[in-house]
Amino acid sequence: MPESSRNSPKSVDPGRLRLDGDQTLAGTLLGMRCLDCGISVFGQAVFCQACSSARLEPVDLSPAGTLFSYTIVRVPPEGWPGPVPYVLGEVELPEGPHVLAEVIEVTHEALKVGMPVRLALQEVQSGESGPAFMVYKWAPATKSAPGNGEV
Ligand SMILES: [Zn+2]
Repeated sequence: MPESSRNSPKSVDPGRLRLDGDQTLAGTLLGMRCLDCGISVFGQAVFCQACSSARLEPVDLSPAGTLFSYTIVRVPPEGWPGPVPYVLGEVELPEGPHVLAEVIEVTHEALKVGMPVRLALQEVQSGESGPAFMVYKWAPATKSAPGNGEV
């Protein structure tokens, strides 16, 4: 297949992850910020979880945060395309929201609550021949990895 006709993978959830450019591993997590109380949430929302205000504006969230908690998952959800066991991390962003995603490029021994992590995108194929999606994950911020372009 000529490279020009290759379909770029789509965001796994366009309401939560915007891909920045074609064929790159760059993307931005999306959220909503309340104009009344100022809190931010990850993903789309129609009203503020804190004050019930409907005055929300979309915001770009930070590509880096800290590991708030994590779980080592040995029994994955049905259809899980990745390796098992895997690490499910809850990451706190500077804006406040917590974002759940797999933590990659880390050994279980190196996992530490409070460690800095960065957004890492991975291309994941759904099923044997299904479409490819870009999925957001977390990776340790201290380790530089290939494909970690400008953020
Ligand atoms: Zn609010």
